[in-house]
Amino acid sequence: MIIDLRSDTVTQPTPAMREAMFTAQLGDDVLGDDPTVIALEAKAAAMFGMEAALFCASGTMTNQLAIRTHTKPGDDVICDVLSHVYQYEGGGISVNALASVSLPQGERGKLTPDLIRDYIYSPADPHKPLSRLVVLENTVNKGGGCYYTVPEIAAIRQVCLENRLILHLDGARLFNALVETGDPTEAYGQLFDSISICLSKGLGCPVGSLLIGKADMIRQARRYRKLMGGGWRQAGFLAAAGIYALDHHVDRLKIDHARARKIGAMLERLPEVEEILPIDTNIVIFRLSANHLAADYVEKLAAKGIRSVTFGKHLVRFVTHLDLTDQMITELETRLSER
Ligand SMILES: *Cc1c(COP(=O)(O)O)cnc(C)c1O
Repeated sequence: MIIDLRSDTVTQPTPAMREAMFTAQLGDDVLGDDPTVIALEAKAAAMFGMEAALFCASGTMTNQLAIRTHTKPGDDVICDVLSHVYQYEGGGISVNALASVSLPQGERGKLTPDLIRDYIYSPADPHKPLSRLVVLENTVNKGGGCYYTVPEIAAIRQVCLENRLILHLDGARLFNALVETGDPTEAYGQLFDSISICLSKGLGCPVGSLLIGKADMIRQARRYRKLMGGGWRQAGFLAAAGIYALDHHVDRLKIDHARARKIGAMLERLPEVEEILPIDTNIVIFRLSANHLAADYVEKLAAKGIRSVTFGKHLVRFVTHLDLTDQMITELETRLSER
């Protein structure tokens, strides 16, 4: 039995999701008439009380489309140094948007109004790029799955309004935050200019991400998606999985969170584990003592049938997801404590 904790992206579609995909009505999304894609986009927009949505192949694509759409070449994007848009999107901010980037260092990857204010350039200073866009991430992957509260975001929104900054949310794991806080999706629709959510993380779809925002912005993003080669034809197969996931796989994220906390308790008993980041959602990041390299440790775990990833020289990440079972969690405890 392999216990795969590398990411919540490793899930396989459930039988019911496959059935929804197999029976989906299809059209040609590039021609704009795939009914299942249209239904998914309408559902996502309505969910957040926003005007429109665009179904794309990946979270990287929806984030990059947002950044490209919101900025002009030479503009500056403010995001935490740990953020996915900076760390894990191939330098896309500079390549796709020709924008520069300012990188405040928040607590566990979370920005605050003060941190953002420190990085806003004066539009009157010709030496500086124009600060244009702020990107928040919720939950924060590199922060160990921590999340923002609505009042925290509202305070950031206020700074953005005062300084004419656009606010985008990388919500790849937004639903993991929402099942913990109980905040309504509509509140997010009011606080952000655009939101990207991933369907292929905790929600268990094989592929897919949605960019949600104003109708004009989404029209522009659709143009750029085509330019990037992201137009897809009978995408309704994948959109059907998305609709199924939004209907059936959101509330169950709480199970993933409970399992993550359970795994945290197991790690606490291991002598080689020095520190565990607080476990707020489905991500467990732990630091090994100085004489253990993460790369070696991950290899050792792999030999015991436990898959994980390194997250720094001494840091290892586990992520819980839909395809884990109680039996795997019990078995994990046994294997972790084997010397
Ligand atoms: C996974 C992830 C993304 C998108 O990744 P893709 O693999 O391109 O879908 C974006 N932001 C965060 C925080 C993520 O964890």
